[in-house]
Amino acid sequence: MVAGAFERELICRYRSSDSAEEMQIGLDFDEEGRRYAPDRSVDVLHIKLDVRPDFARRTISGTTYLTFSPISQPLSSLRLDAVNLTISAVRCPAGVADFVSTAKDLEIQFAHAIPPGTKTTIEIDYSAEPLAGLYFRTPEMGYPAGDTHCWTQGETHEARCWFPCFDYPNERSSTEIICRVPPDMTVLSNGRKLGEMLDSSTGLKAVHWYQEKPHVNYLICLVAGYLKGLTKQHRDVQLGFYTQPSLFEHAANSFEDTPAIMEFYEQEIGVPFPWDKYDQVTICDFTAGGMENTSLTTLTHRTIFSKASENIRSTRGLDAHEMAHQWFGDLVTCKDWSHLWLNEGFATYYALLYEGHKFGDDALRYGLYEDATDRVLTRQEDTRPIVFNQYKNSSEQFDYRAYPKGSWVLHMLRCQLGPDLYRDCIREYLMRHALSSVVTDDLRQIMEQKSGRTFDQFFDQWVYHARHPDLKIEYQWLPETKLAKVTVRQTQQVNDHVLLFHLPTKVRFVVGGNDLDRQIVIDREQHDFYFPLAEKPTVVRFDPDYTLLARVEFDLPDEMLFNQLDRKNDMMGRLLATVALGNRRTQQSVQRLKKTLNEDPFFGVRLAASESLQKIQNDGSFKALAESLRQADARVRLRVVRDIASFYRDESLEILKTVAAYEPNPAIRAEAIRALGQYPPDKTRNDLLTYLRTESFGDEIALAATAAIEQQKDPSYRDPLMETIAERVDQFDSRSIGQTLSTLAVICSQDDDKTPVRNLLEGYLSSPKQAVRVAAIRALGELKDPRTASMISSFIVPDSPDRVSQAAAATLKEIQEQAALVPAEVIELRNLVQKVKEENEKLRKDLDDLKARVEATNGTK
Ligand SMILES: [Zn+2]
Repeated sequence: MVAGAFERELICRYRSSDSAEEMQIGLDFDEEGRRYAPDRSVDVLHIKLDVRPDFARRTISGTTYLTFSPISQPLSSLRLDAVNLTISAVRCPAGVADFVSTAKDLEIQFAHAIPPGTKTTIEIDYSAEPLAGLYFRTPEMGYPAGDTHCWTQGETHEARCWFPCFDYPNERSSTEIICRVPPDMTVLSNGRKLGEMLDSSTGLKAVHWYQEKPHVNYLICLVAGYLKGLTKQHRDVQLGFYTQPSLFEHAANSFEDTPAIMEFYEQEIGVPFPWDKYDQVTICDFTAGGMENTSLTTLTHRTIFSKASENIRSTRGLDAHEMAHQWFGDLVTCKDWSHLWLNEGFATYYALLYEGHKFGDDALRYGLYEDATDRVLTRQEDTRPIVFNQYKNSSEQFDYRAYPKGSWVLHMLRCQLGPDLYRDCIREYLMRHALSSVVTDDLRQIMEQKSGRTFDQFFDQWVYHARHPDLKIEYQWLPETKLAKVTVRQTQQVNDHVLLFHLPTKVRFVVGGNDLDRQIVIDREQHDFYFPLAEKPTVVRFDPDYTLLARVEFDLPDEMLFNQLDRKNDMMGRLLATVALGNRRTQQSVQRLKKTLNEDPFFGVRLAASESLQKIQNDGSFKALAESLRQADARVRLRVVRDIASFYRDESLEILKTVAAYEPNPAIRAEAIRALGQYPPDKTRNDLLTYLRTESFGDEIALAATAAIEQQKDPSYRDPLMETIAERVDQFDSRSIGQTLSTLAVICSQDDDKTPVRNLLEGYLSSPKQAVRVAAIRALGELKDPRTASMISSFIVPDSPDRVSQAAAATLKEIQEQAALVPAEVIELRNLVQKVKEENEKLRKDLDDLKARVEATNGTK
């Protein structure tokens, strides 16, 4: 899965050009304590769902057919996960003595115990008004009628909210779905389509899909509605890309790379695409960024972009991530959520491998660098390892440990084994465990068998213990002995959670224009390495091939950094030198950074040069940035604008205003508009009001203006914002409405009379769109008006999987915490004010008294 909560820019992902990652979705019905996969009393062999979604009522009804055989004991009863399902009948050849359906599950008592190994099919008639698992997008909910659709989301534990099942990934079965819909709708599901048939008695079309190879329950998916599609082909694999008709115009942009990604994966992984076909479909207001259902990936509609955004937006990363899951996650699946990295780490890493394949190795390294610096190395205090089973909710596992850190673990294994042996190991891992559930040790065993090495320590330090190493490197040239001395210290705190690391790597010296590599192993707290060299090196590089996930502190003299910056064949060296020069406030470093920003062949180095100039924050670096605005690569242009915006000065404001008005790329305009928010309203108000009313793809310009207004915290924007919401409510998507409501609440949170805003926000609590109701609840929290508490609490249903209820509970908690804080502070403030008042009063009296006396002394006037 790829998520929305870490959304930056448009969709997910940490690389501005891509999309993806972590989302706090997923329901968990586990109890407290350590988590393990549940026991299986039966082997589920086949699941057949015959269902009819009712779009007007947002309900589903039908029959679930479960074919299974008891594993080791005669089976007298069977418990299935079933959340808020209305069960009307249960049938079984062995006879049904009774069944009990609760809010959480369904327990069936058989008339006669079913002997182990006996294949049995039970039939369960049911209906549901799902709060999760199955979602609708209909005109009654405020979506365009022509885009009506419904879809299902399984991971982690949502499938049980729309059909009764054994809802855990340590069980696999073949599956089959018959879905009955109006004849002009499209139905997508897992596997291959067996056919479509019009039922004259109901006027509905029954579409029949069959998934032959067994997969886990959370990968079952159904999407039905008005969809428009494009198709392509890779070998004999049919590739489909579907969107809502209103988005179809831009669909091809997001479908560009799919055949090439599949071709690359088949080569790199060495196992052919394992399923019957591969479809991708966008979902309006999806609950995540993307979801890798077997042969049918669902994607957020926000992955659709207009060409005007150039290379700032792309679906490539999301596409590659979800497709990698078709092998890692779907063909082999983590047995329980503690081993989630076996799904997400692989999907993250293979998406980067595709970047490397498409744009060269530097693109792969740069992706790893961004993951490390932005997402992993910042997590210094976390004591949780990657494999961790003490989570409270399974969604906690979907974080940096499973995604970028898991990806880095694979990268380090690939560096240690070499790409060919690594590929062999991965191929063997997939072949041996195909169509089954895996744990981390399955991977370790194969690596050991294929390489002859032991990987216990590697997995222990990186996967079963927390954190990463912090390395402090010092270099010294000893001229008398012609020795280069390199000192390496591991400075992370070693304790029960974090080990002292064992790290093989190398040091590279550039001597007389030649690269000399020296292997080293770091396995102690401190090492002094001595290397005899013919002459003093011009460049010293630690871990030059970028094989270690570590926070490295290596302070080098300017001259060596400049030498490093000149090396055309060492992108990582230039990148690190560029970052280091951001700490040198010299004219020379500003000049070199400006040159790098405009001339370096790799865009990531140019980005870093812009950022370093920003960091230097003097007149020279501002001038260098201002003179570097003309950049052909939109990503670099965006960064230069962002970095210019960090200088608070009139010249900067002028540039931002010009970019906001004339830049053709909407993403870059939006960046400049957001930055206007730092300046006082008297200098920017008219511009911001104009942009607030500007229409653009995905409301990008209006949302940028909203963000700027929020920063200014000026309540005089209240009326224009309220007007914008009223005028645009039908055009704005849920996220745009939500953001505007939130801004309104923030800028009015200090108002004496919050009634108009409170009334407006409360009005949105009855919006048919769930995402808007959630946003309205959160905005009410931001309004900081204690009178909203009772309204918010009325939305709380204990233990409900409904996101509105969950948002209400979280918001109410925040309000109560704020309220709890208030008395102590207020009492103190009141006392202080009272004291000041009394003192004032006394002073005034004294003064009056004095005046009176003076007047008295002066005698009558
Ligand atoms: Zn994923």
